[in-house]
Amino acid sequence: MDDQAFRLHVREWLEANFPEEMRFPPRRLNFDQAMGWHKTLNEQGWVAPGWPTEHGGMGLSPYQQIIFSEELDRVGAFIIPSFGVTMLGPLLLGYGTDEQRAEYLPKILSGEHIWCQGYSEPGAGSDLASLRMSAEVDGDDYIVNGQKIWTTMAQQANMIFLLVRTDKEAKKQKGISFLLVPMDTPGITVREIDNIGGYSEFAEVFFDEVRVPRSNMVGAVNQGWTMAKALLGAERILLGSPKLAKFPLQRLQAMANEFGLFDDPVFKARFTQLHMEIEDSVAVYIRMLEVLRRGEQLGPEISILKLAVTEMFQRVADLILDASTEYAGTESVIPLSDGTSYKPVNTYYLSRPSTIYGGSSQVQRNILAKAILKLPG
Ligand SMILES: Cc1cc2nc3c(=O)[nH]c(=O)nc-3n(C[C@H](O)[C@H](O)[C@H](O)COP(=O)(O)OP(=O)(O)OC[C@H]3O[C@@H](n4cnc5c(N)ncnc54)[C@H](O)[C@@H]3O)c2cc1C
Repeated sequence: MDDQAFRLHVREWLEANFPEEMRFPPRRLNFDQAMGWHKTLNEQGWVAPGWPTEHGGMGLSPYQQIIFSEELDRVGAFIIPSFGVTMLGPLLLGYGTDEQRAEYLPKILSGEHIWCQGYSEPGAGSDLASLRMSAEVDGDDYIVNGQKIWTTMAQQANMIFLLVRTDKEAKKQKGISFLLVPMDTPGITVREIDNIGGYSEFAEVFFDEVRVPRSNMVGAVNQGWTMAKALLGAERILLGSPKLAKFPLQRLQAMANEFGLFDDPVFKARFTQLHMEIEDSVAVYIRMLEVLRRGEQLGPEISILKLAVTEMFQRVADLILDASTEYAGTESVIPLSDGTSYKPVNTYYLSRPSTIYGGSSQVQRNILAKAILKLPG
């Protein structure tokens, strides 16, 4: 199928199958709310656009992945991405054993396993290698103790992938390993944290003498940092997806059409400027996906995309609030004539942390300054 035929095929199928009640929700849907849709996608074989077909993915080219994601945006799909599909799956494809791939990949696709990411700890965010959660050998198991924080949707996930310290004596990056843990293991406690919007999308996760089989380790003992870096690379390309800024820009466009905002030359100029910047980032994004597709690694330049797209997202959110006039209040919802509604402040709330998670803007600038511009440390 050529790209255009593929786009029309996806569009037709989504128009026929994407549930009406899930289109353009006022805030993004969580795993529980989206599970029915996940199962429909799985029946169609469309859960994992970037995975190879032999592992149940769609095996799409980078450009087709963008088409697929654009068509999902078109019907108003607004769902927290699956960490199993976007992060753990690619990691297992690269570093897992055949047994681990056979055990975990099908359950990610079916939705039986919902994964969360246990990296950050109090005192180990930007400086992730300072993490202290310990895993000590006891027979065939590890005994895990410590705390994770800001774990997105830990309250709904039934599996967690963890970075743990397996060697306290080694240099900090060298003593870290990567573990897979069911959330119902005795000794795990989840405490939800409310975000600025009053919604609970992340949590603290406490581990008290949690027993984890040694076979649940991905890669070799003390090789966790290599995998964490590979996975963070994958996370940055995901978080650098221009979709992040493009989706709210489309909502803004709908709102602007409805309220005649394009008659205002100042609004029109600001909108057009953002539109062009986002299209530029789409071109960069496609180029980077092509590099990955060829099996090559992306270098520190990937930080440009994460940095630019998240800051664009915030500028789009700012313009949305400016343009919303009396609807910019914390509880205001705009009814649109296409039958959907829009809560501008939700976009604003969602945009604020995007320059923190997945490596803050300051950290990305440090990387670019040192690795690309060769400035002194
Ligand atoms: C919405 C959201 C969801 C998240 N989801 C997850 C998740 O699912 N799993 C998970 O493991 N983590 C998650 N995180 C955590 C996230 O990865 C961390 O918040 C992030 O790495 C920053 O770490 P920190 O919060 O400890 O801040 P810190 O590292 O303490 O940074 C505080 C400030 O100092 C700046 N700073 C730090 N170091 C430097 C430096 N060397 N140079 C210049 N400035 C610096 C930072 O830019 C920031 O402004 C999430 C965070 C958010 C906000």
